Amino acid sequence: MEQRRKLAVLGSTGSIGRQTLDIALEYPTLFEVHVLVANRSAELLIEQALRHKPRHVVIASEDLYRQVAQALSGTGIEVHTGSDIISTLVALPEVDTVVTAMVGYSGLASTIAAIKADKKIALANKETLVVAGELINRLLMRSQSVIYPVDSEHGAFYQCLVGEESENVSKLILTASGGPFRTMSKEQLATVTKTDALRHPNWSMGAKITIDSATMMNKGFEMIEAKWLYGISQDNIEIVVHPQSIVHSMVEFVDGSVKAQLGLPDMHLPIRYALGLPGRLASNSHRMTIADYASLTFEKPDFDKFPLLTTAYDAARRGGNVPCVMNAANEIAVAAFLQDKIGFNDIYNTIEKTMAWAPFIASPGYDDYVATNAESRAYAESLINTH
Ligand code: MG
Repeated sequence: MEQRRKLAVLGSTGSIGRQTLDIALEYPTLFEVHVLVANRSAELLIEQALRHKPRHVVIASEDLYRQVAQALSGTGIEVHTGSDIISTLVALPEVDTVVTAMVGYSGLASTIAAIKADKKIALANKETLVVAGELINRLLMRSQSVIYPVDSEHGAFYQCLVGEESENVSKLILTASGGPFRTMSKEQLATVTKTDALRHPNWSMGAKITIDSATMMNKGFEMIEAKWLYGISQDNIEIVVHPQSIVHSMVEFVDGSVKAQLGLPDMHLPIRYALGLPGRLASNSHRMTIADYASLTFEKPDFDKFPLLTTAYDAARRGGNVPCVMNAANEIAVAAFLQDKIGFNDIYNTIEKTMAWAPFIASPGYDDYVATNAESRAYAESLINTH
């Protein structure tokens, strides 16, 4: 038997992590799980470890270490804690592919470690590219590492771009479901609750990204993610609302032709594609019946109702540490909204105020990103606490 590819799954207990493990089980002759990393979901991590028998398990929260270590004692699985060890484990020579599915800024350090160790990266942690896309691309140029996007839209771009020359691409058309509040008025948005926001019409995802979808910050992030993945200016990336989430994105070429990639809104598909590259993994997964979708509709996004779209374009244009500030403030604001500390529209206000306050750094290095993230989070926290 050909040697199986060893996976390190960072964020294994989250939505993308769990679906990645589904795919590993679907192709037991192709993949084996070597490293599992979770932040706080100890019980699910233990269950995953007993099923997948990785060599290493990390529970990042140190207060949960004993629980995990005791449950896995005698299995031969090494149990670690803290976040520093993650960068060491992703760089292990036997690891082939690192799936980065942790939430938010926390993905940055381990993604950089994986790049420096020349690993294949299945990137689900889009915030890494939002925060530090320029640095990531610089590191990629000096490395054998490749990034395969797990995000459904970016997987769609990837598929549309196969076989094309980059100079023939004129525009990326990024589709958005519009989230749960697409048809609400601006006034109605002021009073929506977290329960309303967590009810996404098409995609089943983690809490943080579901709120990011409701504000459309997620689409702003994905625009910046696409900019760095495909080397396209933000001015040539257009966002279009497509409520059915069947067209996962499109690419327009210099001759006016447009390619689209279609599929059911199921994250197993883009994960399977990212893990299968450069080939495709055959699957008996549920097939789309195109006739069931008699009408696929498209509309321009409402920048007035979802002002974070404009914020994201501004941040991309200004560059430097500005997207890092935006991301940090968003993480704090979304967490506060999920704890009922602020209202829905305060997410935007917190981000704008933090961006107006933060000192600008034109060409940040890694340490500048670390400092910008910490300072912006503290400032955003102070806004919420005086709210
Ligand atoms: Mg997406």
